Amino acid sequence: MRSELEKLIELQRTDTNLRRLKNIIETADEKRAEIEQEFDQHAFSIREVQDRRDKNTAERTTLENQIAENRSYLERAERNLKHAQNQKEYETAMRETDALQKQIAAFEGEIVEKLTAFEEIEKELESRAEEINTMDSKRAEGIASFDNGLETARAEFQSEEKKRAEVFATLPPHLASVYNRLVQRSRDGIAVAEVINGSCSACFMSLRPQMQLEVKRMNSVVTCENCSRILFIATAPAASEAEAAAS
Ligand SMILES: [Zn+2]
Repeated sequence: MRSELEKLIELQRTDTNLRRLKNIIETADEKRAEIEQEFDQHAFSIREVQDRRDKNTAERTTLENQIAENRSYLERAERNLKHAQNQKEYETAMRETDALQKQIAAFEGEIVEKLTAFEEIEKELESRAEEINTMDSKRAEGIASFDNGLETARAEFQSEEKKRAEVFATLPPHLASVYNRLVQRSRDGIAVAEVINGSCSACFMSLRPQMQLEVKRMNSVVTCENCSRILFIATAPAASEAEAAAS
């Protein structure tokens, strides 16, 4: 019975690993999309700075055009001033000249402000130049490394499936069918549960001391009174493995 129980334990370990690998394979597209999205967000934050720079440039061009336009109005106003026929015309042209000069000065002030902001933006882009230049290659690397991991998972899945079939084939038919029934019943795919600190690790029901002894002896298949799973207590090396995995 001991060797059959050991086979069941191994079968469960293999099936648990297969479940883990299957999950990796099935969620791969989603995960890859998440990685891509992360890189896209990064690219977006850089593009945002570049957009601010382009917007600043466009706004300065607009201001320069407005200044040019106002200068031509100013020339006309100055001509009017020179050729004023009477006091009224003179005052009108004077007011106009004044207003246009003020407007031009205001636009020029805005350009100075925008230039200061532009220099800040340029500095930011310069300090992030390395990041900007390596962005595409980092994205490609990140996705390639993810795909490599996925390939490894696929290969491991195949070898584990083979191993599972081999172990399963050596089980007595009644144990194989008990195992299958338990796996199908449980959402977590656990048919064989380890007893940890005196409790079934699948349903957390604590075991009577007598039952713990029976499980330890491995003379018969002992099932959990609460969840019906087949119980086992890991032997020393497996226990230290579990501890290592838990720590
Ligand atoms: Zn249980």
